[in-house]
Amino acid sequence: MSIVQVALPIPLNRLFSYIYPKDIKPVIGGRVRVTLGNRKMIGIIVSLDENDDHLLKEKKLKEIEEIIDKESLFSSSLWKLLQWAANYYHSPLGEVLNHSIPVLLRQGKQINYDFKWLWHITEKGNIFNIDVLKKAPKQQKALILLQQKQIISDCIRKKYDITTKVMQILYSKGICTPKKHYLPLQNWSDNFMIKGKKPILNREQNIAINSIKKEDKKYSAWLLAGVTGSGKTEVYLQILENILIRSQQAIILVPEIGLTIQTINVFRKRFNVPIDLLHSSLNNKERLAVWLRARRGENAIIIGTRSALFTPLARPGIIIIDEEHDSSYKQQEGWRYQARDLAVYRAYQENIPIVMGSATPALETLYNVFKGKYRQLNLLKRVSNAKLAIQQIIDIKGITLVGGLSPLLIKKIQIHLYAKNQVLLFLNRRGFAPLLLCNDCHWIAKCKNCDHGYTLHHQYKRQLRCHYCNHKQVIPFICPNCNSKNLISVGVGTEQIENKLSQLFPKTKILRIDQDTTRNKDSLKKYIDNINKGEPCILIGTQMITKGHHFPNVTLVSLLNVDGALFSSDFRATERFAQLYTQVAGRAGRAEKQGEVLLQTYYPDHPLLKTLLNKGYFSFANQILLERKSVLLPPWTNHVLFRAEFFDNKKVIELLQKLRNLLENLSSNDASVWFMGPLPSLHPKKNKFWRWHILVQHPSRKYLQQLITKSLPLIYIIPESRKVKLIIDIDPIES
Ligand code: ADP
Ligand code: ZN
Ligand code: ZN
Repeated sequence: MSIVQVALPIPLNRLFSYIYPKDIKPVIGGRVRVTLGNRKMIGIIVSLDENDDHLLKEKKLKEIEEIIDKESLFSSSLWKLLQWAANYYHSPLGEVLNHSIPVLLRQGKQINYDFKWLWHITEKGNIFNIDVLKKAPKQQKALILLQQKQIISDCIRKKYDITTKVMQILYSKGICTPKKHYLPLQNWSDNFMIKGKKPILNREQNIAINSIKKEDKKYSAWLLAGVTGSGKTEVYLQILENILIRSQQAIILVPEIGLTIQTINVFRKRFNVPIDLLHSSLNNKERLAVWLRARRGENAIIIGTRSALFTPLARPGIIIIDEEHDSSYKQQEGWRYQARDLAVYRAYQENIPIVMGSATPALETLYNVFKGKYRQLNLLKRVSNAKLAIQQIIDIKGITLVGGLSPLLIKKIQIHLYAKNQVLLFLNRRGFAPLLLCNDCHWIAKCKNCDHGYTLHHQYKRQLRCHYCNHKQVIPFICPNCNSKNLISVGVGTEQIENKLSQLFPKTKILRIDQDTTRNKDSLKKYIDNINKGEPCILIGTQMITKGHHFPNVTLVSLLNVDGALFSSDFRATERFAQLYTQVAGRAGRAEKQGEVLLQTYYPDHPLLKTLLNKGYFSFANQILLERKSVLLPPWTNHVLFRAEFFDNKKVIELLQKLRNLLENLSSNDASVWFMGPLPSLHPKKNKFWRWHILVQHPSRKYLQQLITKSLPLIYIIPESRKVKLIIDIDPIES
């Protein structure tokens, strides 16, 4: 009798012991079906429990109900990665393992490799006298066929009109036996080929490619820092070439697939290898199929968002992270991992290179370069003749805006459209207007669930929507507070600009790209196809359009309202602003045409704006990195957030207050530890839940790890912790 420890997908940080049948060797990393209480669950075996004490308690242990896998779902490096991650993020191993596999596997689906049944003749069958079967002509026919062909596939069996039943009778007589025949792996490496013409590389590209190629058979971590339009994709392609020649596979992480379709097509044009996309619109079956193909080495390149990082590879070759600064690499729910950090860990475990590319690297990444953990390769020039865009500030102090647009900007739009070019306007605010208020008593339309102003949407539909919890309601005609009819909308959203522009430019096509217009699966692609036709048009977009897309005919880019970022209380706001500005600005003038970037602001003299516009992202990044050093903020130190949420505001604060006391006691003899809070979170109320946090800071990651580990068992003793939801966010990126 053996006892195994099983990780279950529940939010409890422990393993569960079960009795395992004694005649079978347990598979670590394989799934089993078990019961916990009276819930049936799929768990994963983590270890054998050889502790004899357990044998005594044996009677209390339940038995495993079903063994699902004959081999581990995880390679040893993935296994190590996930164990490490569960530990580092203080997330239950069961949840971490569960998260990393396709949904169908979580549900217990058997892994069936494609196979056919083949009927093989036996020795007895070969010497069997056909006359014996005279009275059973169907069996006789099958026997003759078997003796002739030795092996019969289902296809042949059907062709001769022989049923499975007949074959089974022959089997019972010992004439033949069924055998599983596994279909041969789809092998792409034998006829691997590079298609199409490669461009002549420039000096910087050459250096980057050669440096990485030289060390691409072992772990090495690279930051490919290349301005927009500098040909990063070409660098990826030529590095991949070397990997694919050796029949190794690549994982490419992107922030969002929908917007990277063009880049993916470039990969398809260059290599005749199977490329799989892990797209959000894949169904569970398709997801599992990609996972299986990767595990068997049948695909060469897997492109996907954050969680594609956990795809098993038969022959791992390289990991590439495009737009590595993008915040979507940090999971913001449940297990809050940073995919970029885990990818580096995985590359290290697999002993393969990792390339992180960005025009606006994260400060954490630049810091890692500074510390010598990653090496930086620069692409500072745009390829071919594309010049960097001309940048200009429009001071909108005291100026009357028309639907958020200054008169100068409207004039510029006109000029660019007249020259048959495209214009892109950036505004990170969807809907018609961000606020509805009463002009008489100053009542504000707020979502009760979130204590946050409603956004006006589709004014013709008269709808208010909460962008936190998605609650909807009709727009009132009169103020519920004072019965005044004087309700006004304040501020400007993308819908309103769209309206205004269609009045100003009635003959021009206007395309609005935001979450509301791209909900539909193919709508984004339609927009992009439309833009790529190259006809003059005005694009209005939110954050979505900043994610690595190419609009070669856009010559004018304008950021309408980004001032908020300059005065945010979040110390990361300036970094995000600089990335956003640089990414949006980078959409201008990608082809041979000169681009122009206009920034509308009420604060034209803001020092950060000046550095960014005059010296560019890298100088700016260095400056804020130094500033953070002087005030000791990440990445020079480390943060952990204890987030708490519950519908009773008082209980949340009480729990955090007790938690803070506890943490202070545990760390009383360390002068470097620093606490802040309880403080309300960035969104203090969401979906009826009040949200607060405590920030813990310490220069040593290890110290923080130990502090959390020590505190966890004590936290669960605090009575409020049984009700209030507590989340540990390691290396948080927002409060
Ligand atoms: P980014 O750095 O923004 O990802 P891309 O890789 O998309 O830039 O390159 C921009 C354009 O330049 C693409 O159309 C690409 O095909 C082209 N390109 C890249 N390298 C070269 C080169 N060495 N010579 C000519 N064109 C190139
Ligand atoms: Zn009122
Ligand atoms: Zn709400």
